[in-house]
Order: sequence, then structure tokens, then C-alpha cells
Amino acid sequence: MTLARVLTLDWSAAGAPKRGADSIWIGDTDAHGTATHNLPTRADALDWLERRIAGEAGTVLLACDFCFGLPAGGARAVTGDDTALTLWGWFAARIEDGADNRNNYRAVAAEMNRRFGGDGPFWGNGAKEDIPNLPRRKPALPEGIADFRKAELADQTAGQRPMSPWQLAGAGAVGAQSILGIAALERLRAQLAAAGKRVAVWPFEPVDGADVTFAEAYFSLLAAEVAAEVKAGAVRDEAQVRLHGQAFYALAEGGGLEGLLRPDAPAETLRSEGWYLGAGHADVLRRALPAVLTPPRLRNDCFAMPQGVDWVPVDTALAALDAALVPIVTTKVRKTHEALGAVLAADTVARRANPPRPNSAVDGYGFAHAARGSGVQTMPLVTGRAAAGQPFDGAVPSAMAVRILTGAILPDGVDTVVLEEDCATDGARVSFDGPVKAGANTRKAGEDMDAGQPALPRGHKLRAPDLALLSALGIGEVEVYRQLRVGVLSTGDEIISRPDLPAEPHQIYDANRPMLLSLAAGWGYEAVDLGHVKDRPAQIAKRLDAAAAKVDVILTSGGASAGDEDHVSRLLRERGTLSSWRIALKPGRPLALALWNGVPVLGLPGNPVAALVCALIFGRPAFSKLAGSGWATPQGFTVPAAFEKAKKPGRREFLRARLNADGAAEVFGSEGSGRISGLSWAEGLVELPDGAVTVKKGDPVRFLPYSGFGLN
Ligand code: AMP
Ligand code: MG
Repeated sequence: MTLARVLTLDWSAAGAPKRGADSIWIGDTDAHGTATHNLPTRADALDWLERRIAGEAGTVLLACDFCFGLPAGGARAVTGDDTALTLWGWFAARIEDGADNRNNYRAVAAEMNRRFGGDGPFWGNGAKEDIPNLPRRKPALPEGIADFRKAELADQTAGQRPMSPWQLAGAGAVGAQSILGIAALERLRAQLAAAGKRVAVWPFEPVDGADVTFAEAYFSLLAAEVAAEVKAGAVRDEAQVRLHGQAFYALAEGGGLEGLLRPDAPAETLRSEGWYLGAGHADVLRRALPAVLTPPRLRNDCFAMPQGVDWVPVDTALAALDAALVPIVTTKVRKTHEALGAVLAADTVARRANPPRPNSAVDGYGFAHAARGSGVQTMPLVTGRAAAGQPFDGAVPSAMAVRILTGAILPDGVDTVVLEEDCATDGARVSFDGPVKAGANTRKAGEDMDAGQPALPRGHKLRAPDLALLSALGIGEVEVYRQLRVGVLSTGDEIISRPDLPAEPHQIYDANRPMLLSLAAGWGYEAVDLGHVKDRPAQIAKRLDAAAAKVDVILTSGGASAGDEDHVSRLLRERGTLSSWRIALKPGRPLALALWNGVPVLGLPGNPVAALVCALIFGRPAFSKLAGSGWATPQGFTVPAAFEKAKKPGRREFLRARLNADGAAEVFGSEGSGRISGLSWAEGLVELPDGAVTVKKGDPVRFLPYSGFGLN
């Protein structure tokens, strides 16, 4: 089920307008996140919902925290019909609910009690005056009427059982809200139908093809998560609608909502009592809950460099960047087989041992080791065999052997296997030379991994072998980070955006953008082409505004220095939170780091050689951290130099290099920073330390292959 919008409604039975805690809260979740609204009256909330739903072209789920039905027997006793929707009509016909929240739910509950011929099942008159047939305390339930619905009984875990729908007043009581809520939804249903919407009330009606689905929910399923938010200062109801809305939305996106919409309950129960979305499955909601649906923002001053620092050494800059950044992407649950390349957002734990049972490592004959000695052993064979996927039925007597194939579970009575190549057999008996080591040619249950053992940790990027491991361990779903969206923007008056366009002599083709877009894509991110923009501050600002609304991080090239034409850094200084890092690095001058509308911007030098080096040295680990996979250090190794160079102290240098036939590093003939051909010629970089060095042929130098930067 795909949903454009999830509305979560925390309802209230208040008799007067009310705001704040214990009043009406609505969560409004869509692809952009969740907005929450606090409305003073039920009438206001209904108006709001009607407008919101009518104005939404896509599919909507309206999840409400009150009961859509009564415990078994309730509907029939009142309407003569076990269909909960008939009861909806009954309530809607009787409930009066004013614009000021004054209402008659107690009178309606008392009337309903009279249908049962006495006091109850509704109870909990919280009004000053006594009301005939509406007891203050819990009465004995009428014959044949249950206290709870089956859905309520499904959630007995952690003392989190919902309240009985019959209870009207008292802390946490839901009865009054349900009566008023059902009447309100029945009205909303009619209004939406009149506006041309196909409305389904789940689980009473099929939801397929509906524009709007009303579903009951229970906003205490994520009690721990809500409690954490309350602790951090949130209003409980607000956190409830926000978190449950986020969980339902994420489930819909990840394909997990279908399962909750098909609860394992008798059709009769669903029709007469209703159900709530996720009953008994709080864990499913919890796992779907995006850990950071509103991505954690980076602190405004996160890129500040210590005052008074002139040239920042590379290692200092890297450490500062590492410290400043946190994962900024939300999370979602994905099927394991669809998660290649994704980064785990939670530790995984083996759900099953590998192998799950002891089995045979070879094709051969299995027997009980204790029964055999040395010398020639001859044993009668049992009838039948043990093969992978076809376990032997029964136990193997101690003096007998069984034909067994690779991967077959060891039958009872078998702990050792002898290789078929070491045996002679006539089909009825098997002979081999003893002794055979106890347990030979078998695999123990869990010898690779045991159930409950930690599998892959959070931050791990899933590769093909990882999918094998997770699958073997019965981990069918994983919580992963969403793909980081990296926007790439080129700036410069001289730049022509594509090489198939004509260029004047004073113009140059954009070399950086295709390079940086491919780098980002190769690192597993969604590369978003933000195009090219001239050195016009207003245009750059407009482009950055649009970019910040759709990507997680922006990579610019050009205009990042402090000169007259360096409009990117000027703009970031004026309108963003620029911190220009003068890094003691060659090639590459300042690196502009800023937040634009809260989105990190990495401003690379325009020079393609410097742009690539800065992207590899700073961009790659920074993006890796933002994407949830942690800081990334490039792989490198020490090789002999095939070149000579005297280097001055002060700046770390990266030379375009590749290995020659002897495995020694040769460097590109020119260090000219405009020599793009050298980037293409190279297969990696030689890293020379910050201090002075004199490299002679054969001296050890550090070579960082492109592949170690994830560049193929
Ligand atoms: P800047 O950082 O804007 O001062 O640019 C430094 C040098 O890099 C200039 O020679 C620019 O023409 C060149 N340059 C800037 N952007 C690009 C680009 N996208 N592709 C190729 N060269 C560029
Ligand atoms: Mg420029």
C-alpha cells in the first residue's frame, strides 16, 4: 500500500474547548515529514480533517486512537446486528456534539445501557449529577458481554493492555472518546463521500481501492519512544501522533503495512468488534519507526575552526570534520534481499543458528562413533538415507550406519560420518578402515554463528556476502539509512555546462560536475545534478535554496576562495554559516564549509585537480559519516618511489601517481593544477607528509589507490 499521507488523530471527549495536554492532536505525515496540530474542539478537528483529506490527491490513512467497535455481544445487543458499522449509524443518529464541545455522550451511553436492561456495561459517570442507568463504578457485566475485545487481549505485553471500551471516565479511559469519535467519523465519512472520496473503514470494509482509510490505532504501542520524547520536553499527545504517524508512514513505504491490515483474527471478530492497527505487533511499528525522520540538524557552528588558526593541518581538519558531523538521513526497514548497498541503521542479531542443526560436511556414511573401534569396520545399512532437505525419518540403531549426503541433518544416533571414497558397500552393508575420529566430517549446530549472537553492526554497508550472512541467519528485514542525496553544483561565468554545446574561446567545459556526480553515485549515494550557475550571487542563492529543499548535502565547485569573483564563499558568508578552512594541502586551497538552510555545503575549489583531491580526502569521509556509515579512511600501502622530489615543509601533498610494472610509484610529469590529463592518467595518489622530505628513487612512499577511495 502506498500512502501519500498519514493522519494520526489523538481524540478527546472534553466537554469544553481545550488545548495542550489531553486535548485533540493531529499528526500529518507525508514524504516531507510530520507536522502536528493541536485543535481546541472536535468540530474544529473535523473541519480540519475534512479539508486536509479533500485536498489530498493521493491515498490517505486516518489512524484514530479510539475504539471503532465494542467487545463481543455489544453491537448485537443494541442494534440486533453483529456488524460494528451498524452501531456507527446508531451512535451518529443519537450523539449531539456542539461547536463548543458540549455533548450528550453520557445520555447516549445510559440509553445504550438500558438496551441491556440495566446498569452497564458502560460505566464511569464522571459528571456531578447522577445519571440513571450510568453507574459510577464498574458493574457486573450483562450476560454474554465481554469486558475486552480480542484486539485488546492481543496486547498483553509489558503491562500495556488497553482499557476496556466500556469504561467512560478515569485516567486513560477510552469509552467516551470512542462514542464521540465514532459519531464524528460517521459524519466525516458522509462528507468525504459527498466530495467524491472512496472511504473505507478498516477492518469493516475492504481497503483496496479506497482513497481514504479510517483505521483504529492505539497510540501506546510506541510507549517507550513516546516516553523518551516526553522526557525531552514534548507534549505526550503530540509525540504520540508524531511517532505513530511516522511509523505507519514508514511501514506503508517499506511494504509492512499490508501485514498489519490483515490481522490474524477471525473474520467475525473483525466485523463485530473491530481491531486496531498493529495489535500485538508493537515491535513491527518500533522497527519501522524512523530513528531520525526529522533528520538531526547539524549545529550551526559545527564547522567553526578554532580562532587564530591560520593554516589547518590536514589531520586537524579531518578530525574537526569527523567531530562536527553526524548521520543526517532517516531510516527505514527494508527486505534483506533488497538492501544491497544500504547502510545498517541498527545492529543485527542472528535469529537462527548457522547451521541450524548438526549436519554432514560430505557424502558418506553416518554412524555412532562410540559403537566403532579400529581395524576394518563392517556395518549393516538402515533402509533409507539422509539428504539435504530430506531428513532421515527415525533413529539409526547403534550398530548400523546410514547413507548420508552433504548438508543432511545428522539423524538421531549419528555423530560421525566416514567419507564415501573411504568405504566399500554392497548396498546392504558398508565397510571402512577404523578408527574414524569422533565427529569426523560433521558440522556442529551453530558452529558458524549461534542464534542471538550479534551479526553485522550498525553503520555497516551491505555487500553481497553480507546479504548471504543475514539471509542464512534468518534476518529477513533490516533497518537501514535512507540513501544520502548529494547535490552537485558548478559555478563560474566561464563554464559551459555540457561538452556537446558550442564554446567561445574564453569559455571552458564543465569538467567537475560529471566527475563529482559520478563519484557520489559510485559511493552509493543518490547523485542529484544541480546544474551550472553563473557567478551571480542571486542566482547561486536561488539554486542553493531549491537544492537545500531536496538534497541532504551540497557539493559545489568553483568560487570558493576569498577573491573578488569568489561568489560562493561570499554568499555563504553573508547568508549561510560559512567557515572557510585554509587547509595546509596541495593541491587545494580553502575548503568552504557551511550550512545553507540547515543543509551542509562543501565548497570545493574550481580547479579539477584540487576538486578531486579535496573530494576524495574530505568529501568522501564526510559523506560517509552523514550517510550513517561512519568516518572512512582510505586504504593505502607503502611502495618504493619511482620518482625523486624535494618537498618543502608546511603542506601535505598529494601527487597523481600509478604503480609501474615493478610495483613502484611513478608520478605524473607535471604538477600543474590544471592538468586534468594527469588525473585520468593516474591510478591513485602518492601522499607526502606535512613536513619537509626528500624522496629518492626506491624510498618508501605511501600510495593511495583510487580503489581505496571507492573510485572505480
Ligand atoms: P575558481 O575556484 O572558481 O577560482 O576556479 C579555479 C579554476 O578552476 C579556474 O581556472 C576555473 O576556470 C576552473 N574551474 C572552475 N570550475 C570548473 C569546472 N566546473 N570545470 C572545469 N574547470 C573549472
Ligand atoms: Mg570561478
